[in-house]
Amino acid sequence: MNIILLGPPGAGKGTQSAGLVERHGMKQLSTGDMLRAAVKAGTPVGLQAKAVMDRGELVSDEIVSNLIDENLAAMPADQGAIFDGYPRTAAQAGDLDRILAKNGRSLDRVIELEVNVDALVERITGRFSCANCGALYHDTANPPAKEGVCDVCHSTEFKRRPDDNEETVRTRMEEYRAKTAPILPGYEERGIVSRVDGMAEIAEVASAIDAILA
Ligand SMILES: [Zn+2]
Repeated sequence: MNIILLGPPGAGKGTQSAGLVERHGMKQLSTGDMLRAAVKAGTPVGLQAKAVMDRGELVSDEIVSNLIDENLAAMPADQGAIFDGYPRTAAQAGDLDRILAKNGRSLDRVIELEVNVDALVERITGRFSCANCGALYHDTANPPAKEGVCDVCHSTEFKRRPDDNEETVRTRMEEYRAKTAPILPGYEERGIVSRVDGMAEIAEVASAIDAILA
């Protein structure tokens, strides 16, 4: 199975990817990670990419294609791939089809973790943590037993991440929609897009994904 996992920040894409890797032995192919690894290992594509980046230029689609090709070629044929953050353009989607075919694979599913933006705002803006021990809390879903006191270390100091505000969440959602707009319609036409409720419990989302892949 070769899949693309889509979802806005906060939808749980990282958690679900990690679950697929653990449950099904799939490999997550994230462009940034592959690039860093290739540069570090000094592979042919890594050296090519490093030269470009050292000149302060952006890595081209061709280099990214070669990078994915290099990674797929090194994977056992029966190991599934999860693409994350790629493709972002219709041209890259075409590239991905060609690279997969070259490696005797094809794209099986595009799974989108759907979120309700208002619920996502509540989920994210309600997060806070103990400034002393780092214990995680949520205003409504998981408040400390005694208001204003950490359950774990009894500290009364808490902190919130500056990014966890409504404006940032809504902006990221818009960016996500703009980013997927060029590729989703093409995959919809092929009938390979499945949507999962990303606001459900982690285990429920995982079983919904497993049902799609079964
Ligand atoms: Zn604490």
